[in-house]
Amino acid sequence: MLCSPTMTEASHIPIPDSSVPGIIWPAIPKLNSNILLTLLFQLEQSQWWTPERLRAAQFRQASHLLRHAFESVTYYQKRLGEAGFNPDTALDEESWLRLPLLKREDIQQAEKKLRSRALPKAHGKTTNIVTSGSTGTPVKLLGTGLTGIFWNLFTVRDFFWRRCDVSGTLAAIRYDRTGSAPYPDGVVLPNWGPGFASAIPTGPSKFLSIEASVAQQAEWLARQDPDYLITHPSNLEALIRHCSEEGIKLPSLREAETLSELVPPNLRALCQEQWHVPLVDMYTTQEAGYLALQCPEHVHYHIQSEHVIVEILDENGRPCAAGETGRVVVTDLHNFATPLIRYDIGDYAEAGAPCDCGRGLPVITKIHGRQRNMIQLPDGTRHWPLLSYDKFIEFAPIKQFQFVQKTLEIIEVKFVTGRPLNSEEEARLRKLINSRLGDAFDLQFTYHDEIPRSASGKFEDFRSEIEA
Ligand SMILES: [Zn+2]
Repeated sequence: MLCSPTMTEASHIPIPDSSVPGIIWPAIPKLNSNILLTLLFQLEQSQWWTPERLRAAQFRQASHLLRHAFESVTYYQKRLGEAGFNPDTALDEESWLRLPLLKREDIQQAEKKLRSRALPKAHGKTTNIVTSGSTGTPVKLLGTGLTGIFWNLFTVRDFFWRRCDVSGTLAAIRYDRTGSAPYPDGVVLPNWGPGFASAIPTGPSKFLSIEASVAQQAEWLARQDPDYLITHPSNLEALIRHCSEEGIKLPSLREAETLSELVPPNLRALCQEQWHVPLVDMYTTQEAGYLALQCPEHVHYHIQSEHVIVEILDENGRPCAAGETGRVVVTDLHNFATPLIRYDIGDYAEAGAPCDCGRGLPVITKIHGRQRNMIQLPDGTRHWPLLSYDKFIEFAPIKQFQFVQKTLEIIEVKFVTGRPLNSEEEARLRKLINSRLGDAFDLQFTYHDEIPRSASGKFEDFRSEIEA
C-alpha cells in the first residue's frame, strides 16, 4: 500500500485520564500530564515529516545545544574552539561533520570539565548516570529532569506504535537497582510506569529482579500470566528454552520485548516457534536514552530523531550509505547538564534505506552492540550475569572490563586500567563481585592493554566458555 498513513493509523493512544468530575470525553488532562501529552501530540506529527524537514529541525535544536556547550562547558569551549566552531553560523551537513567526536575515553578523562556551569533551572534536577555501555567501558555523567521526561515519552511512543493494549498486564524482568523486587513476589505497580502514571490509564505492571534464577523467573511469570513481557535478549532466550523443557505456558502473552543487548539471529524465530508471539526490540542507552524503536511494520529500527541525532559513520568519518556498517555516533539534543555532542558510543550498526511505512525517521537495519552469555553457578542454576558493573569506577580507575567464565568455579576478570591497581583496590573489587555471586567463584584478575570486539563486531561483556 502506498497511500500515506494518517495519525489514527499511526498509533493507538487511549483517552487520557480526566481531571474534571463528570467529564470523561474529550478528557481534560491533569496539569502534570500535560507535558507528556503535548510532546506526544508533536511526535505524532513529526514522525511523518520528510527526512529533510526532520534534519532541519534537528540542526536548529542542535545549534542551541552547541551554543550552550560552547559557552558553559570547559571541555567544549576548548574542543569546539579548536575546531573553528562559530555559534553564529547556521549548521549544515558539512559543518556538522567537522565537529569533533567525543569518545568514551574523553568522558573518562574530562570528568567534571564536561559538565555545564550554567544549566538552566527549567531543565530540572540533575541525576547521576553511571554506565559501562556496550563495550565494558564505564563512564559517569549527569542527566536532568528533562532527559527523564524524554525517556518516559519514548517509552510511551513505543507501546503506542505497536498498538499495545495498555489495559493488559505488563511484566518486566530486569535489573533492580533498589533491590525492591526480589523473587518470589517481585513488585506490583498500578500502572505501566511513570510515563503513563500521570497521563494515560493502563493495567498493572509487574516487576521481578533479574537476579532470580531462570527457573524462578519462569515460575513467577506463569503466575503473573502477562500480556506483554520486557527483558534482556540473553535472559529471554534462556526463559524460552526453560519453559519449553518444563512445559510452562504463558497463555495470555502477546509480545516479548527486548532491550540493551544484541538480539541473536535465531531468537526472533525461537520466540515465534515456542511462544507464538513476535519479538520486538528497541535500541536504548543509559547515556542518551532512546536511540531507535522497532518499526511497527518491520523488524528494522527507526531513529528517534526528535531526541537524538544518530550518525552511522565509515572509517573516514563520512555517513554510511544504506547497507553499509559503521560506528554509531550520537548527539543527545536535550541533555544540557553533560552535553553529549557527536558521542562515539562504541557500537556498530548498519544503515538502512527509507522505510515504506511512511515515517521520515531514518532506518537502522542491524545493531552490533553488546552480547552477554548467561552465568552458571556451581550448583548448576543459570542467571543473567549481574555483577555491579556500574560501581567499578567508584572503586578503581577501570577503563574497560570483560568477564569470562572458564569453568563452573573459575571466572577470569579482564581489566584495562589507567594504572596498576593496588591490593586494596583489588580486594574491594573482588568483594563487590563475589558478594553478587554468593562467594561462589575463584576470580582471576588479568590486565590488558585493550579488550577488542569479536570479528563479527559484537562485544561480549560476559562470555561463557562452558558448553551449553
Ligand atoms: Zn517504518
